[in-house]
Formats: sequence, structure tokens, C-alpha cells
Amino acid sequence: MIDPSSTPVYLDYNATAPIKPKVIDAMAEAMAAVGNPSSVHGPGRNARRMITKARGQVAALVGASPDAVIFTSGGTEANNQALASAPPLVSSIEHPSVLALADADQTVPVNTDGIIDTQTLQHSLDKYRPAAFAAMLANNETGVVQPVRALADIAQTAGVRLHVDAVQAAGKIVVDFPELGADTLSLSAHKLGGPQGVGALVLREGAELAALLRGGAQERRFRAGTENVAGIVGFGVAAALTLEDAEFERRVGALRDRLEAGVMTLAPDAWIVGVRAPRLPNTTCLVLPGISHDTQLIHFDLAGIAVSAGSACSSGKVGPSPVLAAMGVPVDAAACAIRISLGWNSQESDVDRFLSACQGLLARRRHRQSA
Ligand code: PLP
Repeated sequence: MIDPSSTPVYLDYNATAPIKPKVIDAMAEAMAAVGNPSSVHGPGRNARRMITKARGQVAALVGASPDAVIFTSGGTEANNQALASAPPLVSSIEHPSVLALADADQTVPVNTDGIIDTQTLQHSLDKYRPAAFAAMLANNETGVVQPVRALADIAQTAGVRLHVDAVQAAGKIVVDFPELGADTLSLSAHKLGGPQGVGALVLREGAELAALLRGGAQERRFRAGTENVAGIVGFGVAAALTLEDAEFERRVGALRDRLEAGVMTLAPDAWIVGVRAPRLPNTTCLVLPGISHDTQLIHFDLAGIAVSAGSACSSGKVGPSPVLAAMGVPVDAAACAIRISLGWNSQESDVDRFLSACQGLLARRRHRQSA
């Protein structure tokens, strides 16, 4: 018999969600079929049909028209394509793939709840007259959700294009592209149970955008290169499964609440970053005072539990989190913050394993403090 305490617990869905079995099946089938979607023969047309179906599925996920969807290699590429033509104005808590495109002084601050300051936004739009403003729908570290519709109204009045990074929001809360009022929106398959290396840029009708990759007519000339057919098929199936899982927010939100309540009982001095703001149902950015995030990560890892520090960069190194700094979280508290992110396959037993490991960590802290 398998000892349940020895099975790994995955609580890092915001980094990448486990791929759904039906997605793997659909991708395997797509990979077994030969055919370049640009070829006019039968196998080519079959590959084209698969892409067309997936385009409809991804469009449906965000209430957009299939024509609005351009497949990319992921959220990073979608953000780059939306914003690379001229330095955008960006919020100070954006993902690095957005922040890297902005001039250092052209960021709009957030308040201590992690919400974009609309007054400064208005002022900065007037001052810089940027081509575009970028605001994420939900933050990857804290889960804080922005009032994007209100931001869209401000951007529209100023005549500035709005780009919304919905990579973390999609699959966790309803994302309605027309309702948000954005000109462009980015998505990534691997955050919602699809494969890594595929995403989409969704375009408002008439939105003007240059191609990043040129030299082919694929994706209506917005993105040259033979399509990643199996990846796109997997993305489509993951999008369709997401829409079918109408209970996600309630189910995962209840697990998240159980986890947060459990931690607060064990450690009344713990706190949750962004707790007063609207948040994704799956994300907790937890500060356990006096225990560095390195110590926490190692402790949980040894217990077979995968969580992350807020800002693990692509090198795997954990640095100070610019998101927490932007929210005014004191440096010593930010150094004790970890991110726990749940998802489609999370169970009560995962939360309970986390709480039990947390108890061990806190016992060590008490022991240290009393020594
Ligand atoms: N935007 C946000 C908010 C993210 O969290 C991520 C990935 O962590 C990305 C963009 C990049 O997406 P991808 O990994 O598909 O390049």
C-alpha cells in the first residue's frame, strides 16, 4: 500500500499546472497525425481543422471571436508581441515579460493592497502619452485581481491602447474579453492544465499590431512559422475543460480558505499579502515572520510539498520580489513570503499535508526563539 504521506503534494499551479489527462490524449492523437496545416492536401487540411477547432475553444474561454485569437509560444511571446513596438506604460507589478519592455520610469504604482493607483495612471497617461498601457488581470505572486474595466475606461478616454496579461486569471476566474474593454489580451496554456510552450494573443477587431516573427502567412500573418499543432490542440482541449469545470472557483476557493484559516490558527502572527483585495481563488502569498522563504521552501520540499517563493526567476534563484516591494511590503517580511497556489487537481488532503508540515516548521521556530 502507498503511504499517503509519501506522495508528493503539488501546490505550485501558478508556476505551471499539471497537464490534464484528456489534454495528453488529444495531443498524442494530434502528434500521431502527419500534416502541415499550410499544405493543401488531405493530411494538411486535417491539421488545419485541428487548429481551427482549438481556436474556437480558446476563443470561447474568453468570450472572443475565433478570428481574434493568434496562437503564440506562450504568455511571454504574447506580451512581447502586444507591447514590443514602443515602450509601454506598465503597472509596477507586471510579469517580467511586460516589465522588460517598459522604460524604468514609466511604471504606475499600486497601493498596499496591490491595486493599481488610478489617479497616477491618469496623470502618467497625460504625461507620457504612451502607445499602450499594460495591466495584468491577476497577479502571479499574490493573486490580486485588478479592476480592469475601470482601467480600460481611463485608457480609452486617453486614447491609449490597453494590453491585459490574463495568463494567471484564465482558468481561475471568468475572463470576458469584450467585457474587460482591452485591446489585446495574453493567455498561456500551461497555467490551466494545457501544455507548456503554447499561448495566445487575443486581439480586438481592428487592433493594429506588428508581427514579431515574419516570413510566413500563418496566423493571419501576425505570427509566421509552422504552427505547434499538438500544443495548440492541447491548449484547445484545456480551454474547453476549463469551461466545463463550472465549480472551480467555489471548490478551489474553499480549499484556499481552509488553508489560510489553518495557517492563521497555527500562527496568529502570519499574514496574507493582498488579503483585503479581490484575489484569485487559488493563490495565497503567505508571510511567516521570522522564517526565511529559503528555509520554508527547503522544509516543505523535504516534506514532499512543492510551493514557491513569490519571485523565483527563470534561473531558479529566489530574489527579492519586486511585486511585494511595489506593494510596500517591508523587506524583512518579503524575505519570509512564500506562494501557495492550488488548482484543478488539488485535494483537501494536500491542504492538510501542507498544514501538518507548517506545524513542524512553526515548532522549529518556537524552539529557536526559546533557545
Ligand atoms: N504573465 C504572467 C502573469 C505569468 O505568470 C507568466 C508565467 O509565469 C507569464 C506571463 C509567462 O507565460 P509563459 O510561461 O507562457 O511564457
